[in-house]
Amino acid sequence: MYQDLLSQIYHEVKALRLTGQQTAYIPELANIPADKFAIHLSTITGQKYGVGDFDEKFSLQSIAKVFAFSLAYKIKGAGIFNHVGVEPSGDPFNSLVQLEQEQGFPRNPLINAGALAVCDVLINELANPEIELMSFIRQIAGNEKITYNTAVYKSEKSTGFRNRALINLMKSFGRINNDPEEVLDLYFKLCSIEMTTAELSQTFLMYANRGKLPNSNVQILTESQSKRLNAIMQTCGFYDEAGEFTFRVGLPGKSGVGGGIAAIHPGKYAVAVWSPLLNSKGNSIKGMKALELLTTKLGWSIF
Ligand code: GLN
Repeated sequence: MYQDLLSQIYHEVKALRLTGQQTAYIPELANIPADKFAIHLSTITGQKYGVGDFDEKFSLQSIAKVFAFSLAYKIKGAGIFNHVGVEPSGDPFNSLVQLEQEQGFPRNPLINAGALAVCDVLINELANPEIELMSFIRQIAGNEKITYNTAVYKSEKSTGFRNRALINLMKSFGRINNDPEEVLDLYFKLCSIEMTTAELSQTFLMYANRGKLPNSNVQILTESQSKRLNAIMQTCGFYDEAGEFTFRVGLPGKSGVGGGIAAIHPGKYAVAVWSPLLNSKGNSIKGMKALELLTTKLGWSIF
């Protein structure tokens, strides 16, 4: 059933000839062919369905913020909310305005400021933050080969002026413990992690499965943490388009400027889509359309 549905959606979205812009502010991402398009769905009972370029790696960018926050939440429990809030920002992902007004306290862990604060916490808590964060992500992916793309990492590190502004503003308010460059370095590595669309849907299954890895039954997040993280994805995963995504798709999810989106239907499936053409909010145009069609055609809703 899913395979036919995904093929139908894939062709329907392709025929719409939607256009958008590729990420320009990270030079290395500007070169990805605009016509790449993939949809991949994994069910919690172990079935997998894909269409298009679902075996090609792409840059997760902000989708990876979910993994960094998962690890920090696992380590700190509710204490993580002394460092980052749970309110939607209603602002672009890299906005400085609210952060100034709110004394450097980031609204949520899925905007850049919040993810930087989470990386600062990971550096406080872990002896080898990069290695431990990477092995945590490999564990939830069930794939030891997951890593970051060095060219994308270097590209953002040499041009990430807004992220430098965000962390320095937070540091000026006494919110950041470590050297800003050290925190940025971990953040840029996190954002440049690559996965295929198939790997991404597999990795997100944990969030559809009450915090438990579906293959091994290892409980990574508690049920309560998993529920709350899904609530944060629902309300904050698409920045100033979180309402629109909830309205059109109706699933918790997370986007990235690499053109990927991962979303979950609790108790049923995780789905990932990839198309590098973005709308003005930095979310994949075809990706959003494909997910809207998926939840509409399936007729299941979490609401
Ligand atoms: N690495 C990107 C940045 O910090 C991530 C942004 C995104 O995917 N929305 O700007």
